[in-house]
Amino acid sequence: MSSSTPPIVEFRGASKHFTVKSGTVKAVDDVSLAINPGEIFGVIGYSGAGKSTLVRMINALEPATSGTVVVDGHDLSQLGESALRGLRQEIGMIFQQFNLLQSRTVARNVEYPLEVAGVPRAQRRRRVDELLEFVGLTDKKKAFPSQLSGGQKQRVGIARALATNPKILLADESTSALDPETTRDVLDLLARVNRDLGVTIVVITHEMEVVKQICDRVAVMEFGKVVEEGTAYQVFSHPEHPATRRFVATAIKDKPDADTLARLRSRHSEHLITVTVHEDGGHGRRITDALHDHNVRGGIVYGGISEIKQRPFGSLTWGLEGAAADIQGVIDELRRYTTVVDLGTAAHPVDGFGYGADAAFQPAQQAQPVQPAQQAQQAGASTSTQTQILGGDQK
Ligand code: ADP
Repeated sequence: MSSSTPPIVEFRGASKHFTVKSGTVKAVDDVSLAINPGEIFGVIGYSGAGKSTLVRMINALEPATSGTVVVDGHDLSQLGESALRGLRQEIGMIFQQFNLLQSRTVARNVEYPLEVAGVPRAQRRRRVDELLEFVGLTDKKKAFPSQLSGGQKQRVGIARALATNPKILLADESTSALDPETTRDVLDLLARVNRDLGVTIVVITHEMEVVKQICDRVAVMEFGKVVEEGTAYQVFSHPEHPATRRFVATAIKDKPDADTLARLRSRHSEHLITVTVHEDGGHGRRITDALHDHNVRGGIVYGGISEIKQRPFGSLTWGLEGAAADIQGVIDELRRYTTVVDLGTAAHPVDGFGYGADAAFQPAQQAQPVQPAQQAQQAGASTSTQTQILGGDQK
């Protein structure tokens, strides 16, 4: 896509405020954001951050209180009801709870938006067959929603959302009710919708799996604002905002938690450091070179590498042996290109992750300020992971 291609969705200083008894809720607060045609864009953040409201502003289910939302070249605030109805046919939507019509068969659920759009019957039937084949449900054509699994229901939801050939598909927590394997299948299908049909997809999610598997770019929301934005890889390999750091820490289990760290300390007397692994090809080599140059011995004691859109990312915890000044030399050198959390030794522990009393030793440095516990708890995050910090030099 050329850089001159205009965004398919653009928020310009857009806000959505709700007036409630206790005052004003700034559900979306002065957001500027551009979504490019053909990409899979993730809107992430904990419950209550404003994700659903932001995405519902794209099809004007929530009109902006102030600012502008432009979709496919149209300023939504300038469109009358009939023009809005036309534009909404270009925007499909799928939901966490599928929202299927229980009294209609699979085929008739998919047919529904075509009926509403006034498409002739023969054409509708052809389109339904085509869509069911695309989502792999031809054999369930006559089944009712109650006879389907969760994954199959979401496939029907996707087929229905695609019926009118939309340019944009909005997916609101579309895999949150599904088990991990079914989630992967549905995400594969969404990737195919994007790749084969060229549909721009905006996914709202609090699940890292979704981001890792399909998102090209992401925006992280907190308290109605977009606090971080970029390619999925960039945002998760170099999380800058505390909300993003928390999200990454809870989702990628590559760093030892407080209990694991205590176990590692009981088994390893060496100096422990956790090093973030990036896709730069030279990571392993750089570490071994740094160890060699500073006359330090080292081995991996814990870690994990996962993928964000097929690009490796994670962290490795090393046990280092050598003179304290030499080990510091290794840490300083590695920090020139990646994040290093210094955990000290079992005899002289450093609370690099900010686990505090959980890890049964005194913190050696101040933990970063944490967000209200309530928000993270709503999303199921534990308070100990909230304080997890990545020390060292951020790029
Ligand atoms: P998320 O999708 O990230 O969970 P939402 O967009 O649903 O967040 O909600 C953002 C904030 O706006 C929340 O505080 C929510 O309670 C509030 N909110 C959403 N819709 C309404 C509404 N119709 N009336 C009043 N408050 C609302």
